[in-house]
Amino acid sequence: MTVFLGSDIFRGSGYGSGHPLNIPRIWPVIDICRAQGWLPDKDFEAVPPATAEELECFHTRAYIDALLDAEKNQALDEIRSKRHKIGTHSNPIYPEIYRRPATAAKASLTAAHYLISGIHTSVFNPSGGTHHGFPDAANGFCFVNDPAIALTTLYKNTSKKIAYIDIDAHHPDGVQDHFSHLKRMILFSIHEEDRWPRTGRKGDIGGGNAHNYPLPRGANDADLNETLTHNILPRLMDYAPDFIVLQAGADGLEEDPQSGLCYSNHGYWSAVSAFLDLKIPILVLGGGGYNPFTTARAWAGVWGLMIGQNPHTTECVPASRSVLESLHFPHRLGKNVPERWVSRLYDRQ
Ligand SMILES: [Zn+2]
Repeated sequence: MTVFLGSDIFRGSGYGSGHPLNIPRIWPVIDICRAQGWLPDKDFEAVPPATAEELECFHTRAYIDALLDAEKNQALDEIRSKRHKIGTHSNPIYPEIYRRPATAAKASLTAAHYLISGIHTSVFNPSGGTHHGFPDAANGFCFVNDPAIALTTLYKNTSKKIAYIDIDAHHPDGVQDHFSHLKRMILFSIHEEDRWPRTGRKGDIGGGNAHNYPLPRGANDADLNETLTHNILPRLMDYAPDFIVLQAGADGLEEDPQSGLCYSNHGYWSAVSAFLDLKIPILVLGGGGYNPFTTARAWAGVWGLMIGQNPHTTECVPASRSVLESLHFPHRLGKNVPERWVSRLYDRQ
């Protein structure tokens, strides 16, 4: 059984003008999947924000209280702002600064419980994947580290082996810091080399169980596929995890403004498929993705793969096209939207 977890909080909330995340990212995925006939009501579940107590499995109470106060007052005192990195250019105070990331975290927490109970064997949470967050501080646009909350939940409630795989263009520093030393855990990351946060260099094993594969600027589908085939999949299959958490950030796609990686969505989907095909209980998360057109199409395609559809050949029905045509992208790439960004899910072959 496969389920899509989301919430209407992602409709209309944003990081504020000028921020790279001030773009529509989650609701277009939901609306495209519905328009394509891929998301009947029975497969979608809305979740509320996580409580402070739920977030405490990873974050400090002082940090959570700072987020709550920042949401309530739309401001934070200087001492806590500095300590928790809240109210910076990267991590701005915005109206839903607690509720929005807490909702993404609740989805990852719920997903972990579904995988443990076996109610669902694959769960999609495109609002998740905020892999830079630290227990006591925001980091790199991430206020709550929802992958960490899923991993903690899986780790503490079972005695099973867990694999975390991250194909976002950026290295998951917040996750590696806190899980790479644990028994029953293995971490893999493919990311762009020498890109912020500049951790995860070749040979970096973190606390012992991290495997990092930085790719040079310009790396393409063939490079991604080679890393998967020769390095990650053999190690992963040898490890034989009981659960997989896959952070499927879409910022490695060629037309994303925040990385120099050049994957097409064919290569990206093939990577996701390689993990889905293992038939191991899996939570698939979103992550980075700063071009709303490429991100919405990539993640709608991920859901398609999870339910047995083939996004590699999927044309947009008129209602999906309308969703894409309505997207606002305040970046030079958004000035002249090419036809292929609104007419089909797949990139050129
Ligand atoms: Zn990223």
